[in-house]
Amino acid sequence: MKFATELIHGGGPIDPEFGSLSHPLYLSSTFGQRSMDHFGKYDYGRSGNPTREALEEAVAGLEGGTTGLAFATGMAAIGSTFLIFAPGDHLVVCEDVYGGTFRLLSTVMKGWGLEVSFVDATDHAAIAAAVRPETKALYLETPSNPLLKITDLKAAAALAKEKGLVTIVDNTFMTPYLQRPLDLGCDIVLHSGTKFLNGHSDVICGFAVTKDPELGKRLRFIQNAFGAVLGPQDCWLVLRGLKTLKVRMEESQQSAQRIVEWLKTQDKVTKIYYPGLAEHQGHEVHTAQSSGPGAVLSFELDSFETTKRLLEGVKLAAFAVSLGGVESILSYPAKMSHAAMPPAEREARGIKDTLVRLSVGLEDPDDLIADMEAMLKG
Ligand code: PLP
Repeated sequence: MKFATELIHGGGPIDPEFGSLSHPLYLSSTFGQRSMDHFGKYDYGRSGNPTREALEEAVAGLEGGTTGLAFATGMAAIGSTFLIFAPGDHLVVCEDVYGGTFRLLSTVMKGWGLEVSFVDATDHAAIAAAVRPETKALYLETPSNPLLKITDLKAAAALAKEKGLVTIVDNTFMTPYLQRPLDLGCDIVLHSGTKFLNGHSDVICGFAVTKDPELGKRLRFIQNAFGAVLGPQDCWLVLRGLKTLKVRMEESQQSAQRIVEWLKTQDKVTKIYYPGLAEHQGHEVHTAQSSGPGAVLSFELDSFETTKRLLEGVKLAAFAVSLGGVESILSYPAKMSHAAMPPAEREARGIKDTLVRLSVGLEDPDDLIADMEAMLKG
């Protein structure tokens, strides 16, 4: 099945009895048992729920995995995945990782005993040099947040295999429609499903997917033991949102490309970060490992005043945290996604006070451009 068909029919017929086209929503927290010797497929809602399972199988299938797990938030998926390691283990992590992941690693997980080296993952030699005898995993985001830096996933996964490491990729920005890390040799894919997978800015959720049976078992054990599962009602909403993933990504990506062309003509825009630009660092690697540049871009403005006027003045794009919704969202990484990063760390990573990130939604790009143009001209 091609991707668009899989989005609609991936799990096969839903309900042979009544022919329902939408997954039934099972709100039950527990499931009655008939036999003392053999419990049914579901016993308690934290361990399993039919609506959650339908979503988990759908997301696993889209990523080319065999185990998919739905969590209460993207951070819960990420944090639960870190729990498959043990105190004393070491992880090599891309340096411009999502700010919440940086915070989790540098506070909670550090206190728990997980060691981390942050590296410029665009530099393959830097990844290799950071690997120690106690290293257990590479943790990557490509394109990264918010500078859209590109890591060569095939090369990183090959290095990891050689050294016996698990490769983990946060695929939130791309979604499986544009990039499938498991096909490139990576072991675990993570998502803030809050973003493009759900796509409607009405659910916070996360996913972990793998095709390695052993990793699948360990992740499932942690999901049940730690218990940060996604509730059935939210699972149902994400199942609905997922059906339009392809059309949303296609449309938003096209609009993003238009907006980038327009930004290039603006005097007050001093730099644009977008993997679709030929001059973007890693453009060729990105083009080879994905099927599109996506719908998120960042740009720098000529001054703090222009930045403030744009963020506070736009009417169509929301000035907000998050991305990947049908509504365009302009955000300010220094005080939003990367607020958890100390200013010196942020500056060192190139996240300036004049950097804004745009997640392009489904509005007409002409309207978005006119809205931003009024603020840049003002
Ligand atoms: N990963 C990336 C790339 C993100 O952008 C985010 C949130 O912005 C997360 C993970 C965390 O996800 P959540 O907010 O759903 O916990």
